[in-house]
Amino acid sequence: MHAPRSESDSRTDVIYLDNNATTCVAPEVFEAMVPFLTEYYGNPSSAYGFGKLVEGHITQAREKVAALLGATAKEIIFTSCGTESDNMAIWSALQTTGKRHVVTTQVEHSAIMNQTEQLERMGFGVTRLPVAADGTLSLADVENAIRDDTAIVSIMWANNETGVLFPVEEIAGIVRKKRAEYTKANPDNKGPFFHTDAVQTPGKIDLSHVAKSDIDFLSLSGHKLHAPKGVGVLYVKRRTKVVPYVIGGGQERGKRGGTENVASIIGLGRAAELALERLSEEQTRVRALRDRFEEALLKRLPYLYINGKRDQRLPNTSNIAFDFVEAEAILFRLWDKRICASSGSACTTGSLDPSHVLVAMGLTPARARSCVRFSFSHFTRDADIEYALEVIPPMIEELRAMSPLGPDHTDNFNYDVEAAREKEEKLMAATMAAIND
Ligand code: PLP
Repeated sequence: MHAPRSESDSRTDVIYLDNNATTCVAPEVFEAMVPFLTEYYGNPSSAYGFGKLVEGHITQAREKVAALLGATAKEIIFTSCGTESDNMAIWSALQTTGKRHVVTTQVEHSAIMNQTEQLERMGFGVTRLPVAADGTLSLADVENAIRDDTAIVSIMWANNETGVLFPVEEIAGIVRKKRAEYTKANPDNKGPFFHTDAVQTPGKIDLSHVAKSDIDFLSLSGHKLHAPKGVGVLYVKRRTKVVPYVIGGGQERGKRGGTENVASIIGLGRAAELALERLSEEQTRVRALRDRFEEALLKRLPYLYINGKRDQRLPNTSNIAFDFVEAEAILFRLWDKRICASSGSACTTGSLDPSHVLVAMGLTPARARSCVRFSFSHFTRDADIEYALEVIPPMIEELRAMSPLGPDHTDNFNYDVEAAREKEEKLMAATMAAIND
């Protein structure tokens, strides 16, 4: 069994079960990038051959990313990250339509949550749709929320914390139908458009029909699909008007200023090819790993809950509530054993507030603070799962034995009792003190 188990082991020799936070760069991706960090360092905007050569490779990368979405190269804009792509889609729709309302959900990534909060402070209107206890969304709610001053509906494809999938192609159809109605009544009325944050999806679900769907904007991020950090994509459906968010030179056909992150773009092109090739593996082997992991834990431990609709999730994601234990305590102990997992999204870690996603699903703060996300990838081995399954059950039993909460206190976990919060805070302090001893 592969098992880096001591403090002296290399820090990179970890059991990495946090692939929704980021992924390793695939060896094939790294190999494709190297020449563009060494030999071919020309600026793709330069008029001479040394620049043109690089530009040609960017075009090829653009075609590879487009193929992932069944799209054409002209529909792909390279950005610096998923966050920029998200921000750009929303900002652009507000600019091009002149409208002042956005529809989104209560469970979006902070890239959208914080941008829309900022928009509210600037006087724009935002409707955040609720989700059901299993994390799913009502299509009727989406339709009812759209108004004639709605510029854009932005709904993620897959939730980064629970893996729950939203039927975005159906939602895009609803948005398009509304747009047609508004434009028919008033030809000057240009919106609304539909954007999906699909950052968590490549290589995990089939995206090859995106360009045939009614999706107008779609965001991707390199580091979630085994390409490097610091490169992203905004897909913009042909004939959809878009204005730059980063304003500068004429790069990306005038739609995104700034000299291209050449090596990372080349890497992302290669990663997109691999994601297409490995899609069926992710849907079978990785899904089987995830299911085996969940079944084994459910069999071994009581008071465990899997968050999110079981059959409507990404194949690689498992978000588990370990009642009566603080997720932070679990994560510290996991890291002692060189296992990486997370609570909430990597972008909100450090906050003591329970995850906004789990709270929106109706989990009590106490249960939400007991949840850990495990996320697997092409590089997760059977032995990693075996090791995690060896480590986790006794660890949870030990932490529960230390916890003043237990089955007699299920009210804290089943009902929204405010007093539970104070008790939880004390428990957290006691657990942390015990760990630091
Ligand atoms: N959207 C989702 C759903 C994500 O999971 C993330 C990253 O965690 C982002 C957006 C932001 O992507 P980036 O880190 O490339 O800015």
